[in-house]
Amino acid sequence: MATIAATAKTHLLIGGAWVDASDGASYQNRNPATGATLAHVASASAQDVEAAARAARKAFDTGKWSTMAASRRAKIIYKIAQLLAERAPALALLEVRDNGKPIATAKGELSAIVDTFEFYAGAATKNYGDTLPSPMPGYFAYTVHEPVGVVGAIVPWNFPLLLASWKVAPALAAGCTIVLKPAPSTPLTALELGKIAIEAGLPEGVLNIITGSGRELGQAVVEHPEIDKIAFTGSTATGKMVAATAAQTLKRVTLELGGKSPSIVFDDADIDAAVAGALYGIYYNAGQTCEARSRLLVHEGIYDEFVQKFTERAGKLRIGDPEDAQTQIGAITMSEQFEKIAAYCKSGEEEGANRLFGGTRAQVGNGHSGGMFWDATAFEARPHHRIAREEIFGPVATFLKFTDEAQAIALANDSEYGLSASIWSQNLGRVNRVAKALRTGTVAVNTPYAVFPGIPFGGYKQSGYGRELGFDTVRLYSEVKSVITYMGEKPINPFGV
Ligand code: NAD
Repeated sequence: MATIAATAKTHLLIGGAWVDASDGASYQNRNPATGATLAHVASASAQDVEAAARAARKAFDTGKWSTMAASRRAKIIYKIAQLLAERAPALALLEVRDNGKPIATAKGELSAIVDTFEFYAGAATKNYGDTLPSPMPGYFAYTVHEPVGVVGAIVPWNFPLLLASWKVAPALAAGCTIVLKPAPSTPLTALELGKIAIEAGLPEGVLNIITGSGRELGQAVVEHPEIDKIAFTGSTATGKMVAATAAQTLKRVTLELGGKSPSIVFDDADIDAAVAGALYGIYYNAGQTCEARSRLLVHEGIYDEFVQKFTERAGKLRIGDPEDAQTQIGAITMSEQFEKIAAYCKSGEEEGANRLFGGTRAQVGNGHSGGMFWDATAFEARPHHRIAREEIFGPVATFLKFTDEAQAIALANDSEYGLSASIWSQNLGRVNRVAKALRTGTVAVNTPYAVFPGIPFGGYKQSGYGRELGFDTVRLYSEVKSVITYMGEKPINPFGV
């Protein structure tokens, strides 16, 4: 697969055909690391959402995917995984140009994307129902899991293809058809997924992809009466709107939303390992990560040593050209996000937080003067500071000090969010006590990594509801049907008439 040329024009995928937006509209998509135009992207309208939803409905209702033998569906999903693996280098580069993330990060994502499709290829043949204990003599009851129908999959810009795969793969495994809406600023790899899916043998209309620049496009997907479920990843503010709109048609909804996740470092931790993990936890993907460990809660006994080592090592991080294999922090994907990070750093200073390092635009030369780069940044903050409470979604760490386990737990849970947390400690009893007390969907112990295809991922509190990844997610793309059969010889006649 060739990488998309600078002036490439992209299309919508509707009913198996690549088409222009119905009104011919398009918008420019830029490389955030250079400012250069990357592609002219078809800009769908509500009319195109209508066409995509109808195509997905038709593909669902004709049963060409939903009633296909599960083993055959599994093979097609597996073929998608194989084609993704073959094209991983080109797809990673395309993601880098679209998103601004470092190539090393994008390559890791591609590997996870392949794993995700492989995992759900296996899951397609295992969406078992149950045989239930007879409720009364003469009865036989069982459940079947049937696909929920047409899924509207809405994804953000921070992990464009990865988060699309988290929705598309389990939805396909369950037998659903899909209208996929990538984020306006990062649509290109989703379109490549569409090409691969067709090549892998996915029947027409099963996966439809609509790109567009306005918020109303996502809104139109959520409103559409032919769509049965919305799988949404994005900000908590938008998630609330999605839930309210979806309620009008009683759609099933899963929401993967924002976070303000802590790394909790106890005085019995391996400090060097904790420093390395905490650095990765916040500066990976330039902090544009829902589960970024943006709050560093550190025990007072090791606080000074930890901050000093963290600061020293942060100074060695390589910020710059995302296409350079050595780069560790790439560009900020969108100008709005860049401005938001700058505003939060300013608010930190104004509220009296102590800036330890960073807090400014990073200067990156070599053809990247038009790019948006932000220095790795850290503040010592107080729990009430906005930078310690609100999701910044950038490379900004906030340090808070605690004195004992109870205070660490209280600080960690003092958030409207509840997505993830890392605990750094060598004390097994403490690790398990704290893991139990944390109100988060994921607890990572002595590791900043917490995402694998077979392990459920999602939030407590305002980080959303429902889960992605893990086998049970297939159930969130399914309806349960109970079949109750009376097998008795004597007819049932309660009225006796
Ligand atoms: P966003 O909420 O602005 O947009 C997300 C998606 O929703 C985009 O495709 C957007 O076009 C669409 N959208 C916008 N308005 C809509 C509406 N009214 N109805 C339906 N769709 C609409 O979020 P973003 O800025 O793209 O992404 C960053 C946010 O995503 C952060 O808050 C981050 O924490 C969150 N996120 C969460 C997870 C998770 O798994 N929990 C993963 C990644 C990102």
